[in-house]
Amino acid sequence: MSKFDDWFIAPSLRQLFKDVNAWAPGRSTRSDGGIGNKAHSARLSDHNPDWLAKGRRRGVVRAIDITVLDAKGRRQFDPDVVLRALFKDRRVRYVIWDSGIYRRKNGFRRESYAKVNPLGYLRNKHDHHIHVSIEQNEAAEFDTSSWGLLAVEGNTTPVVTVRPQVQENDMKLFFVPTTKVHYVADASGKRRVRDSDVDEWKNALGEPKVISATALDILPDLDRSPINRAE
Ligand SMILES: [Zn+2]
Repeated sequence: MSKFDDWFIAPSLRQLFKDVNAWAPGRSTRSDGGIGNKAHSARLSDHNPDWLAKGRRRGVVRAIDITVLDAKGRRQFDPDVVLRALFKDRRVRYVIWDSGIYRRKNGFRRESYAKVNPLGYLRNKHDHHIHVSIEQNEAAEFDTSSWGLLAVEGNTTPVVTVRPQVQENDMKLFFVPTTKVHYVADASGKRRVRDSDVDEWKNALGEPKVISATALDILPDLDRSPINRAE
């Protein structure tokens, strides 16, 4: 192993991955990233290890990418919740998402990524993942306290599963605690369950999986009227 192999993702950012995974279990990680690839390392990027940092900080990587859209373009979670948590956190230096860049020095107001970094924008508009860069100091790198995703206003209900784990012809029962509504869903879409039919559906499909309304939004409505067990 060469002495340049011992890079590491800042522990604070490892914690952020953990928090997102706990909040959105089963999410796609297809464009998650930490260390820079070859394209990244050819230029200055927080994805590159900092070999000039001293002591235990040597080789620290100060940026990660968090997948928002899966291969089919489906949202894995509400990106605004993550953004709001990040903007409140003293560790964050800047965030890039959906053609916008949000910098601490500018109060995390949205700026056009194309204007701030035209070359970066041409390479990647960041409409599939959120890029997070942290401050260049030991506190920001090694502080592993929670990122408070669940404390974001409007996100009091933990997301139990991000998208229904359903396959073709594999119908499942879901329950949204905030609205107290049951749904049956498969890969093609979802339908509300009539309250009087819930027990019958449980007999047929087993106990419902608890899910957030936003997570279920990913599936199209097959029919807005509640479904009968007899159908
Ligand atoms: Zn990135």
